[in-house]
Amino acid sequence: EHLCNKIAAGEVIERPASVVKELVENSLDAGASEITIEVEKGGRRLIRVIDDGCGMGREDVFLCLERHATSKIASDADLFSLRTLGFRGEALPSIASVSRMTLRSRPADSEAGMELVIEGGDIRRAEACGMAVGTSIEVRDLFFRMPARRKFLRRDETELSHIGDVVTKIALAHPAVQFRLLHQGRKLVDVRRNEDLRSRVTGLLGRSLAGELLAVDCSGAEGRVHGLVGPPQTSRATTGAIYTFVNGRTIRDRVVQHAVMEAYRTLLPKGRYPVVVLFVEIDPAEVDVNVHPTKHEVRFRHQAQVHDFIADAIRKVLGDSSW
Ligand code: ADP
Ligand code: MG
Repeated sequence: EHLCNKIAAGEVIERPASVVKELVENSLDAGASEITIEVEKGGRRLIRVIDDGCGMGREDVFLCLERHATSKIASDADLFSLRTLGFRGEALPSIASVSRMTLRSRPADSEAGMELVIEGGDIRRAEACGMAVGTSIEVRDLFFRMPARRKFLRRDETELSHIGDVVTKIALAHPAVQFRLLHQGRKLVDVRRNEDLRSRVTGLLGRSLAGELLAVDCSGAEGRVHGLVGPPQTSRATTGAIYTFVNGRTIRDRVVQHAVMEAYRTLLPKGRYPVVVLFVEIDPAEVDVNVHPTKHEVRFRHQAQVHDFIADAIRKVLGDSSW
């Protein structure tokens, strides 16, 4: 059991940012409307994610540390119509097996919460605690007793920038949810609840950028593409400014990426990238999200159609604009 968890951790948990992603996605699955992420030393010393979601009851806090104890799939058929972000029941046991974890959780129908202290996957302590409804998971000393894994971690600033990237992507996809990211007490991300996409983009990527973005919204037989796209003459010459999502999941997909660049082909100077925040909604049966354990990759049944659908949607808006 422990060994399985550590092996799974090797697949799913690459670095502090992977922990942040899994914990925040769990918070979203739990229906949280406020999520606070605190990190120290690029996340290697501490990652703490606090949410106001549904919380877990007394038995569930123990259960969630068991491998494949997901509460999110009732049957095999559910796998094909995934609405929640998690579904493997692997993340928590994996993270717990390679860190010192303190898990606190309280559901709405309980007066008190439960606190578990776990070290390398072993539960050291379990007791009732006072807390607000929701869940708080603290992960300290990631990869302790695993010098080989620790060696792969980069400088604190690099690990922190990966964390910032994860939080930015998730926050773009969930403009109704409040996100805060603090590093050693310093606020790096602070966006309010119930924002629309434009103000969310403004809050995350900067005012100068968001002001000039154009709205894309196109529906067809393939599904729907919507979001905001920026002018060709952008000062940000990085791919980092292209954020694409498929059915609410952040992805880096060749097909989608290519479609975006294709739409800008004649408009962009060489080596320049536009600012794009794009959501592709597509019949779950038409897309396989299970290509890679970290779920960054997807595979479309009809790649060419999806590609052209996206490129056309953006081209239409760019063509209508006055550039
Ligand atoms: P998965 O997300 O794939 O179900 P995880 O290992 O990430 O697997 O989580 C295991 C289970 O623990 C979840 O299915 C959920 O029931 C519970 N859980 C984890 N995090 C939270 C949270 N922040 N709030 C409420 N329940 C949670
Ligand atoms: Mg999960």
